Amino acid sequence: MEQQPNNQKENQDPQKGRKRNFFIAVIVCLLILLILFGALHGLTGQASAEKITYDEFVGMVEDNRIEKIVVDSDKLKVTSVKKDKNGDPIRYEVNMVGDENALLELVGDRDIELSKKEADLTASIVSALMSIVVPLLLVVVGFSLIMRYMNKSGGLMGVGKSKARSYVQQETGITFQDVAGQDEAKESLQEVVDFLHNPENYTKIGAKLPKGALLVGPPGTGKTLLAKAVAGEAHVPFFSLSGSEFVEMFVGVGASRVRDLFEEAKKSAPCIIFIDEIDAIGKTRDTHYGGNDEREQTLNQLLAEMDGFDSSKGLLILAATNRPEILDPALLRPGRFDRRIIVDRPDLKGRVNILKVHAKKVLLDETVDFDAIALATSGAVGSDLANMINEAAILAVKHGRTAVSQKDLFEAVEIVLMGKEKKDRILSQEERKIVSYHEVGHALVSALQKDAEPVQKITIVPRTMGALGYVMQVPEEEKYLNTKKELDAMVVGLLAGRAAEELVFDNVTTGASNDIERATKIVRAMITQYGMSEKFGLMGLAEQEDQYLEGRIYLNCGDATATEIDHEVMKKLKEAYEEARRLLTENRKALDRIAGFLIQRETITGKEFMEIFHQVQNETSPASEEG
Ligand code: ADP
Repeated sequence: MEQQPNNQKENQDPQKGRKRNFFIAVIVCLLILLILFGALHGLTGQASAEKITYDEFVGMVEDNRIEKIVVDSDKLKVTSVKKDKNGDPIRYEVNMVGDENALLELVGDRDIELSKKEADLTASIVSALMSIVVPLLLVVVGFSLIMRYMNKSGGLMGVGKSKARSYVQQETGITFQDVAGQDEAKESLQEVVDFLHNPENYTKIGAKLPKGALLVGPPGTGKTLLAKAVAGEAHVPFFSLSGSEFVEMFVGVGASRVRDLFEEAKKSAPCIIFIDEIDAIGKTRDTHYGGNDEREQTLNQLLAEMDGFDSSKGLLILAATNRPEILDPALLRPGRFDRRIIVDRPDLKGRVNILKVHAKKVLLDETVDFDAIALATSGAVGSDLANMINEAAILAVKHGRTAVSQKDLFEAVEIVLMGKEKKDRILSQEERKIVSYHEVGHALVSALQKDAEPVQKITIVPRTMGALGYVMQVPEEEKYLNTKKELDAMVVGLLAGRAAEELVFDNVTTGASNDIERATKIVRAMITQYGMSEKFGLMGLAEQEDQYLEGRIYLNCGDATATEIDHEVMKKLKEAYEEARRLLTENRKALDRIAGFLIQRETITGKEFMEIFHQVQNETSPASEEG
């Protein structure tokens, strides 16, 4: 994603110069023509004369006031016998009526010099030239403007030229050490690196080398980084293009780009071609909604090129996608992208390593504990973590510190996951109270259930990503499985915000929409996918596309069962809500006290929260009552 168009600069400069010269020439030509036109106009303009009507003209003829008449096509240039104050004869111009014979008749034998103007050869040549050259010039200028526009996307004649040339990096400078937490992917790619290093070792024994590998994983997990690392490790050039860049408006352009890309790459073999977002061209051709000619042609060309090249030359194609299920089966068959390398979200250890890789260039103080940060960032991908380190460094500078502390890192985690604090959003007292009770509702119910995750922080400072407040819960350890009890506790905890609102204010707000969505999703999955409902037992009622990519879930049952599932989901959510209300009612004193404290402080730590909670529990315990 950080491809540098390194060799573009020197290519562009002479071309730019030529274009500038061309434009200057066009402008000079136009100026000359304008001057010529002006001069011509001036020449004809010299004979400017007063316009008179034909009747006036006839009157003047009959009164013998005219000395000379010149017939100039359909006009008569008339010179009066009268002189102006400079002594020059006065001139008139009149439109001719009738033909020349009528004029001769009118003049008769009067003493008037009658003549006919011969066509002015130079003037007619210039005007003819003007009528041809000006439109021609306009066409040329317009055309060159279009060309200039098209050049930005590869040149008019080079529409189909691959842009990969601009994105070729002779040395990426990235190695596997820069990619953390993707050990399995690295292991699979190590083999590829070895092959690029010594293709003979493989060909000697008769082994066929892979032509392509598909990197599959959610965005930001480091697929591009891995591809670059393969090129870096093997010290081969890295050609990269995004799938969407192949497909243009014109049919056939994508195909010619593919051809061009392979041609360029073959010249530099051994090398790596990286196609990001391959799904943009590799979408299955078997759709019910009609095809897309351009995409299909591009895909066909890609398939043809993949079949056509000899992998022993050391040309390897890596492609990345997060939607492998929509790829055309032809792309995935052996001999093409037959290897699939999963680049999954990093686990706890992976996240710690990614944080470490990115923290190398950052000054850290002794408080920093990456394990704690990694625990709090379950589900975050590499790019999120890289972003967090950078945000933390910015925060440290903002606070006037010379090194990043753990506090900066935690603040950065919140910025990346929840957005920045929105200081200008001032909530009314009433709203602050509602948000406060809502959040404490979540936190308290979580604390009361033994299968819930511990509370790290509660805040009612609004964030730019929409949250008006939130509870940060950090697990004690990374979990790969969830028990039924944990899921139940999660649902009760999610609904506790709404329960607190209803309990305290006897009214509800729109603030619980995200909680409701998440709770419903969990309950639905428990019933349809995890076999965790008494009613349906172990029957699998839904299927998920690509488990590791959190693909779409679709129901796999009859309509009547789907209705029953809905009823069951409703019932479970109702029970969970009742449970949340019960817990909060029983602990109303703690709820009030913590919410009051939160309104004052805006943000409280998990420790402060637990202290107040235990304090209230001690006060209300039977022992203290007796005492
Ligand atoms: P993808 O191609 O999967 O969308 P990228 O490779 O473009 O993701 O990752 C974006 C950035 O995130 C990288 O430049 C890098 O800084 C960071 N990153 C992602 N995954 C990792 C990782 N496993 N190790 C180190 N950095 C990573």
